[in-house]
Amino acid sequence: MEQPVTALLEIRDLSVSFRDNRASQPDLLPALSISDWRLEPGAVVGIRGPSGAGKSTLLNVLSGLLLPQQGSIHWLGNEITQLKEGQRDRWRRNNIGFIFQDFHLIPELSALENVLQPIRFDHWRCPPELRRRARELLSQCGIPRAHQLANSLSRGQQQRVAVARALLKNPPILLSDEPTASLDRASADAVIELLLGATRETGKSLIVVSHDEVLLAQLPQAYELVEGRITS
Ligand code: ADP
Repeated sequence: MEQPVTALLEIRDLSVSFRDNRASQPDLLPALSISDWRLEPGAVVGIRGPSGAGKSTLLNVLSGLLLPQQGSIHWLGNEITQLKEGQRDRWRRNNIGFIFQDFHLIPELSALENVLQPIRFDHWRCPPELRRRARELLSQCGIPRAHQLANSLSRGQQQRVAVARALLKNPPILLSDEPTASLDRASADAVIELLLGATRETGKSLIVVSHDEVLLAQLPQAYELVEGRITS
């Protein structure tokens, strides 16, 4: 069968290495090596792999935070590896919702202010409709008290605020690094439901790195990353 013209994601001949400064002659240690990987629009994908396999590095290059030494990454036909840094940052702000393992919330701001952070680059003053959307998202994510300070929320609540923040700009792509790590099972299940709900309701794509077999079992596709290489 013929493949659709525009894939969600197309990776070719990608390699990322890091300098090993411990060696007397600093050497490049390969962290990621992906010759060919393609995902179709709407893909909801898990990635498992041992510690050090390159999972965080993969999310960093996929989001354009890290530029590979070699190779190309096309998202919906757009080659982000060819963009200049500022263009890449703009592309990321408009297209990626990133959910970090350790939330990356600003502890002394309220849940609402944290959710609104992604628009601080775009707007000097927050448009009322975005403030409304942020409140709605918080409520959908089970955080009724929008003005509660982030540092007074439980870990499960903080991760749900982080999901709401990732959804604020309605990005087509969600990337998530161990979203359920260090959460109790009930909180983890609530976060899984939010992420999967977002893909079901709005057709977003999701790539989630996880060790959580309960989470991985609920995803239609799962890959394994071993020594920087993707296997299915
Ligand atoms: P995982 O997320 O699967 O645990 P990582 O992507 O964090 O793996 O790391 C893959 C490899 O790259 C590891 O060997 C790690 O030590 C190395 N690495 C990751 N980031 C850096 C960095 N900023 N500098 C040097 N080495 C790094």
